[in-house]
Amino acid sequence: MKFDPASNIQDLTQFGEYGDVNPSVTDSATFTFMQAKTMLETFQGEAEGCFLYSRHWNPSNKYLADAMAAMEGTEAAWVTSSGMGAITSALLQLCDAGDHIVASMTTYGGTFAFLHNYVKKFNIGVTFVDIADIDQVKAAMQPNTKVVYTETMTNPLLSISDIPSLSDIAHKGGAKLVVDNTFTPLIVAPAKHGADVVVYSLTKFVNGKNDCVAGAICGSLDYINALIDVNDGTAMLLGPVLDPYRSSSILKNLHTLHIRMQQHSKNAMFISEELSKLGIKVNYPGMKKHNAHQLLNQLMNPEFGYGGMLSIDVETSEAAAELMEKMELEGVGYLAVSLGYFKTLFSNPGKSTSSEVPEEKQKEMGLSDGLIRFSVGLDHDIERTFEKIKKCLKEMELI
Ligand code: PLP
Repeated sequence: MKFDPASNIQDLTQFGEYGDVNPSVTDSATFTFMQAKTMLETFQGEAEGCFLYSRHWNPSNKYLADAMAAMEGTEAAWVTSSGMGAITSALLQLCDAGDHIVASMTTYGGTFAFLHNYVKKFNIGVTFVDIADIDQVKAAMQPNTKVVYTETMTNPLLSISDIPSLSDIAHKGGAKLVVDNTFTPLIVAPAKHGADVVVYSLTKFVNGKNDCVAGAICGSLDYINALIDVNDGTAMLLGPVLDPYRSSSILKNLHTLHIRMQQHSKNAMFISEELSKLGIKVNYPGMKKHNAHQLLNQLMNPEFGYGGMLSIDVETSEAAAELMEKMELEGVGYLAVSLGYFKTLFSNPGKSTSSEVPEEKQKEMGLSDGLIRFSVGLDHDIERTFEKIKKCLKEMELI
């Protein structure tokens, strides 16, 4: 039977203590026990259904985590206070001092900075590779490689990871495949293609309202339990816990994700095709000419389209700045980092979300100075939005 993440979310029957159709928010840091013995058993992880302390589990967080696990088709999940909280905890849980990670050269700038600048504190080595070059990935594996890390659709270059092949390489080398699926929720289910752990910034499409920062880690029950083990679990001990009020609001937004992704995708496809017709250099995985279009077709759930992210290249950072300022004034959307919002957002990755990546590495990964990344919004009349973009391009004599 076809894996249907949207129906898995729809089928959740989570309700509150008074039958409230939205589960109640559990506004408590700690939980009481009528018997001391049960508290001890809960500490030892043996008392089913009991909550101990909200850094470990909170019922509101459990509802959202269960929904994320249902969406990804994993046994379990845990939610975090940010996407970086999810990524850093997920990776540190899998690596000990002296271990090694093979990572995509193109990832979100914060992830790159963590892998490039931070994990050396723990004597963890990282080899950055062109993740689309499977031979390069194979060659980078070492006996101490514990993780192969990538993003399904990489930020900001929008290349696509061949998750089944990466999973084979990782598993043959005794490593785990960790995939950030932030750009492609519902579109791709990485765990169904062999990823062991799927991480998210929920801040983006999943929440879709730009009113909070949050993350999630989805994986096997053993792995999630290990993450929150009171003695040595990375998430339990570093404590990147999500506030239950936020879990509750994100859960409600998750239930409209399928409709939003369809509209983001439809609008991004329209803008990409029209800009391309004008001769603008467009990068959108939904277009046949995109080098990983076929690969994405094999991995994706076509009902949700090719996603809301696209980029154009206007050659220089000066031209990018001028165009973005014009588009903001014209009402196309906002000049802002982040993505997955109901309004269109645009930024110049080299000077913002990837500015953690040194300039020579930006060049090596093919990140042009004039790249503008768009997260296309939920605009009802996308032709009208396109006309605004066209007006700005004309004024700059770029078309
Ligand atoms: N992963 C991706 C692909 C992102 O784009 C981002 C943020 O932009 C993150 C992770 C980090 O998420 P957060 O800002 O929620 O910590």
